[in-house]
Amino acid sequence: MTDSQPAWPVPLRPELRSERPYGAPQLDVPILLNVNENPYQPSADVVSDIAAAVAAAATTLNRYPDRDFLALRADLAGYLRAESGVDLAAQNMWAANGSNEVMAHIFGAFGGPGRTALSFAPTYSMYAEYARDSHTDWMVGQRDGSFAIDPAVAARTITDVQPSIILLTSPNNPTGTALEPEVLRAVLAAAAKVRVDDAPAVVVVDEAYAEFRREGVPSALELLGDYPNLIVTRTMSKAFAAAGLRLGYAAADPRVVDCLQIVRLPYHLSAITQAAARAALRHQSELLSKVADLRAERDALVSWLRGRRLDGKPLTVADSDANFVYFGLFPDRHAVWQGLLDRGVLIREVGPDGWLRVSVGTPAETEAFKQALIEVAGI
Ligand SMILES: *Cc1c(COP(=O)(O)O)cnc(C)c1O
Repeated sequence: MTDSQPAWPVPLRPELRSERPYGAPQLDVPILLNVNENPYQPSADVVSDIAAAVAAAATTLNRYPDRDFLALRADLAGYLRAESGVDLAAQNMWAANGSNEVMAHIFGAFGGPGRTALSFAPTYSMYAEYARDSHTDWMVGQRDGSFAIDPAVAARTITDVQPSIILLTSPNNPTGTALEPEVLRAVLAAAAKVRVDDAPAVVVVDEAYAEFRREGVPSALELLGDYPNLIVTRTMSKAFAAAGLRLGYAAADPRVVDCLQIVRLPYHLSAITQAAARAALRHQSELLSKVADLRAERDALVSWLRGRRLDGKPLTVADSDANFVYFGLFPDRHAVWQGLLDRGVLIREVGPDGWLRVSVGTPAETEAFKQALIEVAGI
């Protein structure tokens, strides 16, 4: 024992000492429009089917679960085949406890010391944390004024940075912007020419909100057959109305899936999760049945916000292919966020200054949001 007290009682990595756990505030208020959940609860039928599936799984809880969860992977492939018309099999699929854990597997396999991950800001703030946690360098290029990515800028940045992981979010969070197909093609072409340990970069398209995309907007799934270095991630947390389930997944070339398996924890998907996810997937048409309503509600909310004025100028509202709307510009966005919260409406203060993000809720929730915003912002 020395007589000098150490500054830290435990050896937390120095670069983590000023860090805080990620997460939007979880506050107990009546109107929750801050984390892009589907506002509709599962029906009694769906609940009882999930409960029965979990009860059946519970009879074998003394055993470890199926480590490769091929039945669930086949179900997920079947869902994507129906949703996007793309030919996928169980071997193309990977899953984990939320697509956030899938992302951690991607960084575990393809990132690491001396390597760089690249994305285009403003975008999902969790990506920087996967990079930090996997000791991967983190770089961001910039989106343009309408939050689109310029294909030439993207290609040049990729050539300069030589990343091993390129992350594109479509629709993007927090802006709602869908990726233009020519941007994805330019990124894939530039990624193919990257050389990291003698390999091209992987391109990850995070399609957490894909089911909400507008008519005619393609999914990156359509390009999977042409690009072995393309990974498309999805989740049951948003359109699928199952955020509490914690089930995210990826579609990719089977050789990519083999790489992700190397870094997963053993038995990471519990028997309970597998059973509940499979039961939920059996009810996919019902669980997704509100997506059309939410898209219509979103489009109406965008129009409504575009019709409001702040100090004589119309509000700026980003086009949205997701179940949320990004709008501004407020000279003091925190005051607007706080004023809404004081009226029981929780939204999200995120991304560039002046902007706020609101999730699309039920018609009654949207109405409460509008009334509160009129009062608070004087729009
Ligand atoms: C919500 C969200 C996810 C989903 O995360 P889960 O871990 O599957 O709940 C992934 N990516 C983005 C951009 C999101 O906004």
